[in-house]
Amino acid sequence: MQPQDFNLAILGGGPVGSALALLLARLAPHPARIALLQAETASQYGHRPELDPRVLAVNHGSRVLLESLGAWPQQAALIQTIHVSQRGRLGRTVIKHDDFNVPELGCVVRYGQLYEKLAQAVITSGVQVLIGDGTRVSEQDASGVGIEQGARRLHAKLVIHADGLTGVESTRQYTQYALLTRARASRPRVGWAFERFTNEGPLAVLPHPEALGEQSIVWCCSPARATALQALSPENFSHALTEMFGSRLGTLTAQGPVACVPLAMTLRPQTIDGRCVAIGNAAQTLHPVAGQGLNLGLRDAATLAIVLRGWLVTPDEPPAIALQRYQQLRGPDRQVTVRLTDLLSRVFTTKLPVVEHAAGLALLGMDLLPALRAPLARHLLQGLRL
Ligand SMILES: Cc1cc2nc3c(=O)[nH]c(=O)nc-3n(C[C@H](O)[C@H](O)[C@H](O)COP(=O)(O)OP(=O)(O)OC[C@H]3O[C@@H](n4cnc5c(N)ncnc54)[C@H](O)[C@@H]3O)c2cc1C
Repeated sequence: MQPQDFNLAILGGGPVGSALALLLARLAPHPARIALLQAETASQYGHRPELDPRVLAVNHGSRVLLESLGAWPQQAALIQTIHVSQRGRLGRTVIKHDDFNVPELGCVVRYGQLYEKLAQAVITSGVQVLIGDGTRVSEQDASGVGIEQGARRLHAKLVIHADGLTGVESTRQYTQYALLTRARASRPRVGWAFERFTNEGPLAVLPHPEALGEQSIVWCCSPARATALQALSPENFSHALTEMFGSRLGTLTAQGPVACVPLAMTLRPQTIDGRCVAIGNAAQTLHPVAGQGLNLGLRDAATLAIVLRGWLVTPDEPPAIALQRYQQLRGPDRQVTVRLTDLLSRVFTTKLPVVEHAAGLALLGMDLLPALRAPLARHLLQGLRL
């Protein structure tokens, strides 16, 4: 059987692959020559992405991109103030939206809602969506790439891996698990997000996108503590959470089940291999501290779409020059974001009092010195400006 022939195939219809498909559909003369191959088991947390317990802090730059693609979820909670502190030490800093003349620092959305919104938009974009499990690249030569999806055979001149964490060994095991749940605060503060560093990992308390006054909890801690916390009754879990977070929101009462995710960083050493490119989590999977994974992945997608604009018109030409340009443009942002995230996830957990004290002083220094705070906040808000 002759393989189906495409100019470009995107493997993975998560948020990054779908956003790329929508961007390319607008630039390509023939969107039907683009395939988006999505696994049937659409989420690593189960068959139904709407059940995915993740909430995502989406920065201002990502919001603008998603809105322009018609894929902004209906329910989103604004973040206008971010409070960063260290448990048991003095250091803390507060970042406010009006320091940067933006209406909000970011928003919190449900992974499942974002996934659905993007998937719906792709269906009407003209891109061909092919759903099936077991998709893999089978071969590559100078003219293109062979792909298998079950019994289906495809050939594409360029393949984009947006298939998340697949077959790449982890670069760092954090020996931290993230506990995900939601909680009701007795003294809620609308528009406030909190990142509290503990000596086992960060605890994020974010406004929940679906219920005013409720918080999304991402509690990173040692695997042993995570297992013990999951086994607690709802009352005892709520008590432990309030004790760890402190009294800034009054008492926190957990609502619903507690999910648990092991945390690791995986970095693909080479994001380009001939006619294959990896973007989003397929290129780098980060610790959730500071909420950078999706934001970085969307910047990957936007840059790739821009550099491929010319090639989409002449797809018989080799894409090598466009891909080199992509690598040059993405290198600095990728490096800074990966290093910053890795540092933040570990610097408060060294169990070395001097290092932890210095990290606390750095937070305090940031609060006192807007000149230090501004570049960090700008990077987290919009990514590195190129
Ligand atoms: C607890 C937690 C909290 C987080 N919080 C934030 C946050 O606040 N802000 C933020 O920016 N990021 C956050 N992230 C990171 C964010 O979830 C990811 O960076 C983002 O989902 C990456 O999107 P992606 O499309 O690259 O990959 P994924 O979301 O992993 O999607 C990949 C898709 O590819 C599909 N797939 C897999 N293999 C194949 C295959 N062989 N063929 C076809 N399809 C395939 C999968 O089914 C999936 O749908 C968080 C992550 C976690 C774990």
